[in-house]
This record gives sequence, C-alpha cells and structure tokens, in this order.
Amino acid sequence: MEKIAIITGASRGIGREIAKQLAKNNIKIIANYNQSEQEAIQLKQELEKENIIIDIIKADVSKREEAKKLVQFVLKKYKKVDILINNAGISEYKMFLEETDEDWKRVIHTNLYSAFIMSQEVLPNMIHLKDGCIINISSIWGMVGASLEVLYSISKAGLDGMTKALAKELGPSNIRVNSIAPGLINTDMNADLTKDELEQLKKETPLGKIGTPKDIAKCVEWLISDTFTTGQVISVNGGWVIT
Ligand code: NAD
Repeated sequence: MEKIAIITGASRGIGREIAKQLAKNNIKIIANYNQSEQEAIQLKQELEKENIIIDIIKADVSKREEAKKLVQFVLKKYKKVDILINNAGISEYKMFLEETDEDWKRVIHTNLYSAFIMSQEVLPNMIHLKDGCIINISSIWGMVGASLEVLYSISKAGLDGMTKALAKELGPSNIRVNSIAPGLINTDMNADLTKDELEQLKKETPLGKIGTPKDIAKCVEWLISDTFTTGQVISVNGGWVIT
C-alpha cells in the first residue's frame, strides 16, 4: 500500500524539494503551506504534468487547531500517516538583548512547538499501526550555536532533543525519529547573504560548495528507506561543521 507523507512548509525551498523527490518515489504527498499559496499551486501543477497528484493544504502549523485540522484531513482521506517531515521554520537575526517575548513566541512556536503538536497529532495513528517515520529538519546552529541567532539555535537544539527522547520512547512502537541538521543550503532563507559572503562560506566548507535542497531531500529519501536508524542528528553540511 502506498505510503502517506505530510511535509510542513512544503511550498518552497527544502520542503518543496523533499515533496518532489518523495512524490517521484510513489509516496503520496500532503504538502502543507501557510502563506505561499501560489507557490503551492505551482508545485501541484508541476507534478500533475508528470501524472503525480498531491494534496496541498493551508495551515499555520504553529497553531494547535490548524495542525489538528491538517492531520484530521489526512486521516479522513487516507486513513493513516506513515511519514511526517517537520520542515516549516523561520530564521531571525537579532542581538540577544533585543529579543522580545513576542520574538520568543514566534520563533519557538514556528520551529519547535509546531513539531511538538504535529507529532502529537500523527502519533496515535502511527502507534496504532506500529509503523512510522518522523524527520525533524533542524540545523547545524542547534548543534554548535549561532551568534545573533540565539532563538533559532534554541529552537533547533530543542528539535534535536525531541528527536532523541522521542526515538527512545517510540522505538518499541517501530517508529523512527531522526533529525537532519542542514548546513548552508541555497534557499530564500539565505537570500540576504551577499555574493562575497557566499564565496567566503564556500571556502570554509571542505567540499567547497553551498548545499542545495536536493542534498537534503536525498537524505530524507534515504532515512525513509532505512530501518535501523533512529534518534540521530544527521548533519548534511559539506563538512562545514564536524562534531
Ligand atoms: P524557506 O524559508 O524557503 O522555507 C520555510 C518554509 O516554512 C516556507 O515555505 C514557509 O512558508 C514555511 N513556514 C514558516 N512558518 C510556517 C508555519 N507557521 N506554518 C506552515 N509553514 C510555515 O527556508 P528553507 O531553507 O527551505 O527552510 C526549511 C527548513 O530548513 C527550516 O526549518 C530551516 O530552519 C531549515 N534549515 C535551513 C537551512 C538553510 O540554509 N536554508 C539551514 C539549516 C536548516
């Protein structure tokens, strides 16, 4: 029976590429988006040209009610969720002392709370079926911390903590939970970097290049096909950060 995957924040960047890659592997994709409706429609149309039908569903996954509705839609239509990719995220550059309670709420809710609630919504079904795969897209900054990105770093470190703890709790239910911690990936999230900054970053990276969404999608593809990897933070970063 065909596998069912929910990907949050899938209208562009890394999430979009994951959706495309998995769809081509005969996995039924539910691509969540929040604001970028046009991009989500384009993704659907692009795949339709290859006779691949996906669902695009609007939901702000940092809100419990919207996350719940998204998962309920999927369970009603397909009766199960095999794969959850918690990809939705935002970045924020600010001096720590300028961060406000509102910033904390926005970044932590979008990057971390969303994964908490999405996982809670899909897990009763996965546990019932004794099968499932959750992948959290964290970041190297959760591993080593980034100056001017304290909230982002906290949110991604939190995701990795959740990955490890949940993997232990859910292993007996045959549910694997892993993080992929990307290094610098060429998406809109890094649109502010200048050409010179990108060149410098390439020089600092042993593989001498910036990553692409495809690099992350390939790792997701592998993790889904795997059966013995759980509780791991797999950093796809060209060797930029080696811990
Ligand atoms: P992006 O900004 O292109 O994509 C993020 C997506 O998340 C967007 O489609 C956005 O609309 C969606 N999103 C944000 N808030 C949402 C919400 N509340 N509900 C639903 N969707 C929401 O950036 P990207 O580079 O593709 O990032 C994808 C993930 O990868 C993020 O979690 C990011 O932190 C992580 N990451 C990216 C990089 C990088 O260098 N690009 C590095 C490390 C980690």
